[in-house]
Amino acid sequence: PWSAALTREGDPSVPARLQRELKPDNIRENLRTLTARPHIAGKEMDLGVARLIRDRWREYGFDSARLVPYDVLLAYPSRDPNRLSRVSLLEADGTVVVESQQQEAGISDPEAEPPFNAYSASGDVRGDLVYVNFARAEDFQTLVRDVNVDPAGKICIARYGKIFRGDKAKLAAQFGCAGLVLYSDPEQCVAEGWPVWPDGWMMPSTGVQRGTVQLPNGDILTPFYPANEYAYRLDEQDTNLPTIPVHPISYGVAVDILRNMAGPEAPVEWQGGLDITYHLGPGYTGPASSRKVRLVVNQDREVRTTYNVIGTIRGAVEPDRYVIVGNHHDAWVYGSVDPSSGTAVMLELGRALGKLKAEGWRPRRTIVFGSWGAEEQGLIGSVEFVEDYIRNLQERTVAYLNCDAAASGNFTLSMSASPLLQSLIREAAKKVPDPHEPSKSLYDTWRLKRPEEEGNPDTRPKINKLGSGSDYAPFFQHAGIAASSMSTSIDPAFGFGYPLYHSAYETFDLQDRFIDPDWTVHQSVGRLWGEMAVTLADALVLPLDVRDYAETLQKMTDELRDEHGSRLAAQNIGLDHLESAIANFTRATTTFHQSLGTVDKLNPLAVRAVNDRLMKLEGAFIDPLGLPDRPWYRHVAFAPSSVNSYAGQSFPGLADALFDIDNVNPADQAARWELVRRQLAVTTFTVQSAANTLVNNL
Ligand code: GLU
Ligand code: CA
Ligand code: ZN
Ligand code: ZN
Repeated sequence: PWSAALTREGDPSVPARLQRELKPDNIRENLRTLTARPHIAGKEMDLGVARLIRDRWREYGFDSARLVPYDVLLAYPSRDPNRLSRVSLLEADGTVVVESQQQEAGISDPEAEPPFNAYSASGDVRGDLVYVNFARAEDFQTLVRDVNVDPAGKICIARYGKIFRGDKAKLAAQFGCAGLVLYSDPEQCVAEGWPVWPDGWMMPSTGVQRGTVQLPNGDILTPFYPANEYAYRLDEQDTNLPTIPVHPISYGVAVDILRNMAGPEAPVEWQGGLDITYHLGPGYTGPASSRKVRLVVNQDREVRTTYNVIGTIRGAVEPDRYVIVGNHHDAWVYGSVDPSSGTAVMLELGRALGKLKAEGWRPRRTIVFGSWGAEEQGLIGSVEFVEDYIRNLQERTVAYLNCDAAASGNFTLSMSASPLLQSLIREAAKKVPDPHEPSKSLYDTWRLKRPEEEGNPDTRPKINKLGSGSDYAPFFQHAGIAASSMSTSIDPAFGFGYPLYHSAYETFDLQDRFIDPDWTVHQSVGRLWGEMAVTLADALVLPLDVRDYAETLQKMTDELRDEHGSRLAAQNIGLDHLESAIANFTRATTTFHQSLGTVDKLNPLAVRAVNDRLMKLEGAFIDPLGLPDRPWYRHVAFAPSSVNSYAGQSFPGLADALFDIDNVNPADQAARWELVRRQLAVTTFTVQSAANTLVNNL
């Protein structure tokens, strides 16, 4: 009878059948198809890949699959031979000593866009070069405060790495640089003794990392609202797009530009992997002293259509509860790692779920597949979709599970997640075999290779805080939906991400020859993803663990006290109220978790009531007014770090107000302390509110 279906646990055979169904060969063929042509957002293949995905989902037996387009501001490098973007080193008479290339060596595909940093200002600047290391806040501070080299009015050159490139561009503009050249230093993309592409997976001297320099996220012309046909669009002048030209180059070109620089020797930690002594500048020395650097950027910005694809497998019992899996489909060029390794896995996961459905299974809750457009330009497709459907999503979404680059290496898992999903991730990883040692679980190898506590293999595996590196950000940071992000990455001992990141060398062969020749790494990511998705979709009581949230908040508060406690005390600011809110939250989570053990599972209303509490807990951390100076980010416990969007920052309102506060000038310092007081109250209130949602009575 109907009432029995309401209270039935999911079919326990489903997860194992799903795991068996995911085939490495299918993932391989998917990736071959997806990487056949460049598929940058807004151009022909944005639609081409979107249609392919939609058609596959229909073929796999999804209940629905449709394109969801948005008209958004996109940027492309000019292809006009007279307006090509480039960095050149010039003699006093204008003779070109060296100039950056329009394409990576070995790539001659007219559909492949030349290297560029999307949304850079266009411009033509000439001048002296200053080396700014990674262009982090602390690097500029070292330059200005400690070594007295002023980057203002100069063309700055920074190496990629450590932080999101958009933050580098923002800081360079703040410090008055006339332009910014970004390059991949061998220290961040070549490990000693490892062959470079095409003989290996390290970055060769001609490779260039593309990437956006837009901050914040989504379509820049339509903040908070979807970029649809009746959208109100801001004037580009009223946005905070970069005001200076920014352009990326290879280390083969950078070495010639950095050689013979004048000025003091760069600090030891600033010396990179090129075979030169790095100097800070400005300008050049000796016979090169009259040389100048010229930076030309010409980009065309246009409102163009990008396509999301939304597919569903409707829930049998709770169709109005969504478990969303997502990945973007646009790539800078071929995207064999980013994002197409994830897309190839997502297609296979869709096929396998479709097969289970054909065999008679239907999930309890609806499983939604989201394939996003224009992530690379700034998470645009997913942000517009979240803005468009925010009411439905906030009211009905259990969790959002993102997988961007499924295999950016073959070492071990790399996970970030809301505390609510951490226990689910750990339990799911225990059920998936390791791709290299199938007698062990993914959990066991992950724990050994990436322990929570460095050097202690007895701890749990490390799960990071979410920043805003991919499409989970709008779900988590803006809508307050529990989210996770998964990848298999390279050995952290290398000290950098995968070397060929965002270059034209991200080809099918990179995966097939080097990263995952037997395609089992991709398979294992698919298995973990599928395990998590069907567990969330089928479990009678949602497997979200509130106790991990309490533990995390407690740890964050301890860190806050350790780092800023005495500074706060000196201002007469106590953490007592925050600590007591955390204690209340901890008590509420403990009691709530215990109550799950005694919930009457035969009473569908009782089950739905606890599940709603679980589903809604993340949203209780949303402040409708948003964070100071960035209202679109509304999660009070976690945000992208203001100095590095890729990283997660705990208690961001407080952290930002306290950032470098001792060095701020006295007048601004007083205002900052007021902000600290205010944000402390907001944070305390938010934690207490979240605790209240778990308790029964008003
Ligand atoms: N994932 C893209 C990148 O790394 C976009 C990140 C963002 O806009 O936050 O460039
Ligand atoms: Ca928008
Ligand atoms: Zn990506
Ligand atoms: Zn990317």
